[in-house]
Amino acid sequence: METKQFKAESKRLLDLMINSIYTNKEIFLRELISNASDAIDKLYFRSLTEKDVKVNREDFEIRITPDKEKRTLTIEDNGCGMNKKELEENLGTIAQSGSFAFKQKEDNKNDDINIIGQFGVGFYSAFMVSSKVRVESKAYGAEKAYAWESSGADGYTIDEIEKDKYGTKIILTLKEDTDDEKYSDYLAEYKLEELVRKYSDYIRYPIKMEVEHEKPVKSEDGKEEKYEKVRYDETLNSMIPIWKKNKADVTEDDYNNFYQEKFSDYQKPLKTIRTSVEGDVSYTALLYIPSHMPYDYYTKEFKKGLQLYSNGVLIMDKCEDLLPDYFGFVRGLVDSPDLSLNISREMLQHDRQLRIIAKNLEKKIKSELLDMLHKNREDYEKFFTTFGTTMKFGVYNDLGLNKDNLKDLLMFYSSTEKKLVTLDEYVSRMKEGQDKIYYACGETVDKIELLPQVEKVKEKGYEILYLTENIDEFVVQVLLEHKEKKFANVCANDVDLDTDEEKEALKKENEENKDMFELMKEAIGDGVQEVRFTHKLKNHPVCLTSSGALSVEMEKVLNSMPNDQKVKAQTILEINDSHEIANKIKDLFKTDKEELKKYSKILYAQAKLIEGLTIDNPTEISNLVCEIIAK
Ligand code: ADP
Repeated sequence: METKQFKAESKRLLDLMINSIYTNKEIFLRELISNASDAIDKLYFRSLTEKDVKVNREDFEIRITPDKEKRTLTIEDNGCGMNKKELEENLGTIAQSGSFAFKQKEDNKNDDINIIGQFGVGFYSAFMVSSKVRVESKAYGAEKAYAWESSGADGYTIDEIEKDKYGTKIILTLKEDTDDEKYSDYLAEYKLEELVRKYSDYIRYPIKMEVEHEKPVKSEDGKEEKYEKVRYDETLNSMIPIWKKNKADVTEDDYNNFYQEKFSDYQKPLKTIRTSVEGDVSYTALLYIPSHMPYDYYTKEFKKGLQLYSNGVLIMDKCEDLLPDYFGFVRGLVDSPDLSLNISREMLQHDRQLRIIAKNLEKKIKSELLDMLHKNREDYEKFFTTFGTTMKFGVYNDLGLNKDNLKDLLMFYSSTEKKLVTLDEYVSRMKEGQDKIYYACGETVDKIELLPQVEKVKEKGYEILYLTENIDEFVVQVLLEHKEKKFANVCANDVDLDTDEEKEALKKENEENKDMFELMKEAIGDGVQEVRFTHKLKNHPVCLTSSGALSVEMEKVLNSMPNDQKVKAQTILEINDSHEIANKIKDLFKTDKEELKKYSKILYAQAKLIEGLTIDNPTEISNLVCEIIAK
């Protein structure tokens, strides 16, 4: 008999399972039952769509059989089964794309809890409680049956066996009990009943177990009543999908358990949304907002979508069309009696009912999020910190098509509140005479605080939104305004906080020093469009402002992206006219023009550095600075 090796990643995962410190080992049962139910789903679905598949819905069952003597627990289904190749591929390898992340975590023991939950390791969880796992399976319609067997990381065998019926039988030989862990509990009927009710109650096929109970039996003459031990089949689950149960009969725990099981999440959801609509198009939806980002959310592997059921029968695992990209993080399902079972992916896209459902769900998700924002700020901030970026992309994409829909959900960090605030909140606090929504961009809140341009706006008492994400400024540019208040970048040249008189004075001063600025501009070279005095700065000597639609921050973002075309923001070097440096340069213009040229280069380099830009000529600048301080 040939022993085959597991694929490297599977072996590692298996090791983890075998040596697991995961306390919630009991979940192995729900994983195996869930696989059995999926296998029956598959066969049932085929019976509805393929002529040669003839099965009766009533015959489907999942059977659990504990055997105390042999110390085995058997889970059997009459679903689609697996042929030899499928046994090999499905159980010898982990198909999940999560295996890449798994590699990075191999050294960290505590992480096994995360891994177990995160990647829905399914079948392998059997090894948390078993010293040996045997899978006997016969694919529907196949001649031959096979057994896959493994005692752990050493490998597995596959042999041909005799098996009459199609379906799969999983025989677990339970581990020996230890001080901490009583694996034999999983052979006790009461324990199995409890676990099925807790985790698998909604499974739509009967989960049966032969149980022994004392039953009252009438004596032959019908007079006396005796108790006798009898064995009979008990169906352990109610078989009603959770979304079809009366709302009053479902607890938050039930919803959470269902979510964690169904969507393989080790954490509870942040919010559960259940909604039913009767009418032109009828459906029930059970939606969840996860409390954390799926590990692959920003990779190509991630696929958004909701499960789609037609009257309780799963017809698609991830129906993308039910969710807009900006709500792609939502998990859940939709069950509608109006959908045909035979519908294909292409047809679904054009399906009128589906489009209506999608529109309604989008509205529902938005209103639930707004509700959270108003009633449970803490949760909303948590949500926004996790998924806000996705919604910002939603504002920006499609030329701002969805911006009005989404802008109420946005939050930005506020200079005065020192926390995330909404645009409505900002506008409601605007000072008299303030006609713009001020914002400043930078890598972090701390770095923005230090921007020279920020100081003066703050001094005027205006609130500033600090935009720290790459996408933020693009979002603001798409939004243009909120409640008729335009957005203004404090680092753009058109921000002015001056009175008319002050403006006039500054204009005059700049006019008078025109020749000096011309000389400075020439000394600097292509870098700046203009050099001038400003009132924008309080204590700082210089700043760089952008004069076009493209800001300095956007230049950084765009140029950090992998493409050939580099962009350049048009910038103005502004010098604080009340800083000592102003007099110094005026002086030099009269006395030493060569020296002024050097100063110009240094001032420009400083302004760039403050903006977080790199300078093209660091050696030259460093030499110039040394030359001046050595004097
Ligand atoms: P998942 O269920 O998340 O895909 P598992 O590791 O639990 O991952 O199972 C791997 C695959 O093995 C399943 O996708 C399925 O194709 C197959 N499988 C598992 N259990 C059964 C079963 N009882 N009947 C038929 N196929 C099964």
